[in-house]
Amino acid sequence: MDSRQIGRDQAGDAAVDRSFDHANAGGVMAPVHPGVLGQDDQNVGIVGEEGPTQLLGWRRNGDAEHARILVGIFANIILRFIIHDIYVAYIPGRLMNTTTNAIHSTSGSAAAASPSRIPITIAVGDGIGPEIAAATRLVLAAAAAPLEFHEVTVGERAYLGGVPSGIPDDAWQAIRTTGVLLKGPITTPQGGGYKSVNVTLRKVLGLFANVRPCASHACVPRSRPGIDLVVVRENEEDLYAGIEHRQTPETYQCLKLVTRSGCERIVRYAFAYALANGRRRVTCMTKDNIMKLTDGLFHRVFDQVAAEHPGIVADHQIIDIGAARVATRPEHYDVIVTMNLYGDILSDIAAEVAGSVGMGGSANIGARAAMFEAVHGSAPDLAGKGVANPSGMLQSAVQMLVHLGLPHPAECIHNAWLRTLEDGVLTADLTSSGAVSTSAFAEAVAARLGQLPQTRAPVAYGASLRIALPDIPPLPAEVREQVGIDIFLHHVGQPHDLATSLLGVVGAGFDMTMITNRGVKVWPDGHPETICTDHWRCRFMSTGMVAVPFAQLLALIGRLDAAGFDVIKTEGLFYFAGKPGYSAGQGA
Ligand code: NAD
Repeated sequence: MDSRQIGRDQAGDAAVDRSFDHANAGGVMAPVHPGVLGQDDQNVGIVGEEGPTQLLGWRRNGDAEHARILVGIFANIILRFIIHDIYVAYIPGRLMNTTTNAIHSTSGSAAAASPSRIPITIAVGDGIGPEIAAATRLVLAAAAAPLEFHEVTVGERAYLGGVPSGIPDDAWQAIRTTGVLLKGPITTPQGGGYKSVNVTLRKVLGLFANVRPCASHACVPRSRPGIDLVVVRENEEDLYAGIEHRQTPETYQCLKLVTRSGCERIVRYAFAYALANGRRRVTCMTKDNIMKLTDGLFHRVFDQVAAEHPGIVADHQIIDIGAARVATRPEHYDVIVTMNLYGDILSDIAAEVAGSVGMGGSANIGARAAMFEAVHGSAPDLAGKGVANPSGMLQSAVQMLVHLGLPHPAECIHNAWLRTLEDGVLTADLTSSGAVSTSAFAEAVAARLGQLPQTRAPVAYGASLRIALPDIPPLPAEVREQVGIDIFLHHVGQPHDLATSLLGVVGAGFDMTMITNRGVKVWPDGHPETICTDHWRCRFMSTGMVAVPFAQLLALIGRLDAAGFDVIKTEGLFYFAGKPGYSAGQGA
């Protein structure tokens, strides 16, 4: 790829190939550039491969870089600006590529403004956010990363300033214009009905894939050896729909929404990611022994997509044993693809086992935008003390640079960071003695720009394999017939008495087949030990299991209401192409 092409790519004129060396990168994820998707980008998979390597270009220059470092950070900054401009403007294309790296391709307008400085949006966030963001910017500046920062305020200050979403209009505008957000952690105030800024950004912007790499660091005392895994977390669905209701005095509900296209999009992405990064195994984790429809769908889609990838070992684990094994045998995992909540928990476990939750970076990838943020939260207990580990946000910034097609500063920062850890420069979360401050850690990384780690292979980013984002076609039409209804009642009493009363008002055309309480069948043939609350599900099937007109369902609800029953909600019982689309009662 010609270096001038990079400029055009950054301007959004062409789809781009960007990538990273997973084997060397210690699991840092592949990148995205908000270029324009070409027609042939519409199906997920590796869609391009290019020749020899930017790795060569970078390593050949290593000695010169070392020499420059000795002049000091100031000289380093100036030189890197010069070197970068030469690099972007003149180095022939072959030096811009590597053979081992992988990339996502997205569309958007991020780089429309300038071929030499890429505009990005930055939000420093809350709690420790401003401190770790300042540290990250110090290193980015020292590495002469050609970025143009557009700073916006999201989170606590926006909430308290009267913006209920925590994201003011100017922030939306900047994020849409640049297509890339580097974000510090956000505090979601407890109570007051505030929605999480993070979840809102991920969902509104369609950032469906949350990629969270995790690797061991021999120099970090608590880091378990051998870890090199990536959690690919579904980012838009599941319990994070945030649709909750209080239905009775006793009972609260949170809806778990899972779509087939959402499952397929993230599972295909995980396999494409594995292929592009030389990963050999993809493990799916769900709880489909309990949630047979929702988690079962995720598992089923996984099995279908896995069958298309015979070269990759695919397996499934129930999330509880999976999480336990990630804690005790993390070195056995490669790529883990899982649902939103499980992925959130799992990636914190993995980051802690690898050393500290403060080390983990992440990328949130969508077709039109990408957001980069640390795995951890705003750590209010550390805010203002200058002791937080900035590594998570710094690693996120590295992922962002690769995404933007800037492998040179990305690997330069990554290698300097590895060298800093090797040299025993550690923040308080990683060591009990001699810890350095947030800013001192950042300065130590900046001072090592151009140096390589000594105890492990250096990181090399570049471009060769691209992960085109999956475009999931709509399902073919299916015959859907409603054969019954679950009517949920608020009621205080005994199951048998409730059943007797209901049977008196059901009427012709329906059979009451069961009553459950918190999912457990309590009628017919309930068990006396079952603890019942005030929330009952009463199942009515059409007699003969035939399709039932909606008017008849309304009439049934009306009869119950007229008889004094407290109807709080209903759920349709559908057959899809002759198969039931609802679960049985537990113990039924
Ligand atoms: P947290 O991740 O902020 O903190 C958990 C623990 O890890 C604390 O002991 C903290 O001191 C430590 N820790 C976290 N980051 C660290 C770092 N960089 N260096 C050293 N130690 C670090 O989780 P929490 O306390 O449950 O949540 C605090 C707030 O953060 C909440 O308001 C929550 O909603 C928010 N949060 C935001 C995000 C995000 O913005 N992406 C993610 C998780 C939590």
